Amino acid sequence: MRFSDYFKNNAAPVISFELFPPKTERGLETLKNRVLPNLVKLNPAYITVTYGAGGSTQGQTLEIASAIKNDHSLEAACHLTCVGASRSDIDTIVRKIAEAGIGNIVALRGDAPQGQNTFVTHEDGFAHADELVSHIRETEDASTPFGLAVAGYPEKHQEAENIDVDIENLKKKVDAGADIIITQLFYDNDAFLAYRDKVKAAGIDIPIVPGLMPIQSSSQIQRIASMCGARLPDDLLKQLEDAGEDDDAATRIGTEQCIIQSRELLDSGAPGIHYYVLNRSSQIRRIVKGLS
Ligand code: FAD
Repeated sequence: MRFSDYFKNNAAPVISFELFPPKTERGLETLKNRVLPNLVKLNPAYITVTYGAGGSTQGQTLEIASAIKNDHSLEAACHLTCVGASRSDIDTIVRKIAEAGIGNIVALRGDAPQGQNTFVTHEDGFAHADELVSHIRETEDASTPFGLAVAGYPEKHQEAENIDVDIENLKKKVDAGADIIITQLFYDNDAFLAYRDKVKAAGIDIPIVPGLMPIQSSSQIQRIASMCGARLPDDLLKQLEDAGEDDDAATRIGTEQCIIQSRELLDSGAPGIHYYVLNRSSQIRRIVKGLS
């Protein structure tokens, strides 16, 4: 199935997860043999697998996505970025994704590799995700088109001048052929709902799926939220400060917070939730059970 198939007919909320390729061989084994089977039991619609900076995880991204699809008969998506890639590099990767039977791609520009400040376009590559989406649409097998997701930013992408410009750029990705939007993580539902209204007012009419990252550590989430420009509401910040370095306490706070945030979003008409599960299964199990 393709991304958009899940969002037809406003059926049950579409719950999906995101994994990242671990840095070590042992981490990869744990992910495939322990974490993944536990996640599959939670019955997500699909699982997406991120793509490391500069294509560093290309092989692992595909390996994990293939394990999801072939070992668990669950739909998978490979993330793909333009970092350091020529058109022909992209063509090669997209062909491998198709040959592995993976029908969905999260199409991204990507960030500058570590040590560089700004994203540099490959001389024969793509400057923005809309160009990647157009290229995939122009070159794919028209009889089996990919499901394509693109990124949206409820609190604005950090390089964008303002939210309106960012939404104009989002529209370019949608007009190029994206099927769904998955958002950057956020903790402020009002920011998401205001964004959704603006995106719709801009004439974008594809599913906007909130991306949520359950909190597992106070210091980690403050660092990630600040990198992404995600505001932590004052009451949540206070609870996390009180938890200090106690990750068990932070996880309990994060679990409860994520259940409440998810419920509010679904009650407000969100078509589903995409969870950044950070390669763990126990917390998301509690969250999914807490939602039912
Ligand atoms: P773009 O859509 O190209 O936007 C980047 C900036 O350029 C924005 O400020 C936008 O307003 C502007 N812009 C966009 N199009 C145009 C245009 N045509 N002309 C002028 N300006 C334009 N990173 C990874 O490295 N690997 C991953 O697997 C990964 N997965 C992600 C998944 C999700 C759901 C999200 C939200 C992010 C993910 N990222 C990942 C991070 C992402 O790569 C960064 O946020 C990156 O900085 C922007 O990527 P993008 O696809 O949104 O870029």
